[in-house]
Amino acid sequence: MDYQADILISNDDGIHAPGLQALKKALSGLGSVLVVAPDVEKSAFGHGITLMTPLRTAEVFKDGEFFGLSVTGTPADCVKLALHTLMPKLPKLVVSGINLGPNAGTNVLYSGTVAAAREGTIFGVPSLAASLRSFQKEADFYLAAEYTRRFAEWMLSHPLPPGVLLNLNVPALPADKILGVKVTRVARYRYRDRYEIRLERGRTYYWLTGEDAEVIDPAPDLDSVAVDAGFVSVTPLGYDLTQEALRPSLETAFKTWK
Ligand code: MN
Repeated sequence: MDYQADILISNDDGIHAPGLQALKKALSGLGSVLVVAPDVEKSAFGHGITLMTPLRTAEVFKDGEFFGLSVTGTPADCVKLALHTLMPKLPKLVVSGINLGPNAGTNVLYSGTVAAAREGTIFGVPSLAASLRSFQKEADFYLAAEYTRRFAEWMLSHPLPPGVLLNLNVPALPADKILGVKVTRVARYRYRDRYEIRLERGRTYYWLTGEDAEVIDPAPDLDSVAVDAGFVSVTPLGYDLTQEALRPSLETAFKTWK
């Protein structure tokens, strides 16, 4: 089987997720598409990769047709393995999603959806992460898939600087209720999570639970605020974490240290 394709797609909801099927269908008009995705859901795995266990792949068929490759790893593993090894040549684009649930604010740090796209940018491939702001299991991905296709098509002819991906969040609204596209920045969240402490067979365990995070200093141009208000939010995300503005004063502070 030749795994070459114009577009590599992945996700963190797993290879059987409806959002991935909608994405594959929507992007098929832009070129050949290869799906390489986790065999089971790996939401909130961030940019983790698998070091201590082997990765196995399996060909997945749907309705008698080859759908893609499942990987016993994380979203970042899928993209890394595909770009390093499975694909003879780099694709023109990596697209991750469409996630069920938004990936905005501080949550982008935990997001496997965003990490899969970020892995693409590490290889120098233009990359896009896409999420639908819905929590309904039966969510309709049609409109989010349409927007994802439009942004993907735009990216094929408009290269971004190296190391920058686009993070797309689409409201779960009918097309005529969408207010437009807003280019946003990442909100900072204050989490109101807590761990429920439970007891089973004499042993304590902890289960993460809690309410929605609170946006610190809300503003209309923040990703989660924009998508909650009904805008399609698109954020350019980089992975250079250096705080350049702080380097001179720290340089001074540590100058005499040896
Ligand atoms: Mn997910």
